[in-house]
Amino acid sequence: MARSKICVATGCDEIALSGLSHCEEHEAARKAKLKAGRKKAQTSAAAIAARRLYADHKWKAARLVHLRAHPVCKDCDELGVVEVATDVDHITPHKGDRKLFWDRSNWQSLCHRCHSRKTAREVFHQ
Ligand SMILES: [Zn+2]
Ligand SMILES: [Zn+2]
Repeated sequence: MARSKICVATGCDEIALSGLSHCEEHEAARKAKLKAGRKKAQTSAAAIAARRLYADHKWKAARLVHLRAHPVCKDCDELGVVEVATDVDHITPHKGDRKLFWDRSNWQSLCHRCHSRKTAREVFHQ
């Protein structure tokens, strides 16, 4: 029988949930904290500014033009895979900065998978 692990939270000696590193109570606390962090990220000034930029009809038209000119995902292409790009990504995260947002040399075409992977990484590092 596999030995039960003890919760990793400081001062906690409860048995961790199977496959996890926290007990039930601390796992719930951890999830609540993650959720609060995500909510905070969505309501920050930068996030609000970014949403406004993405809602601009000029952006919607410009991204289509960019995707037509660069129809292949750049990340996949570097791995030798041809994948149709669906998203225009900002190489340097603009964080709501208008100049960086509209700087076309900062744009690259990515497929949805590569874009979500990159965005998840950026949110994680904020
Ligand atoms: Zn615990
Ligand atoms: Zn890709």
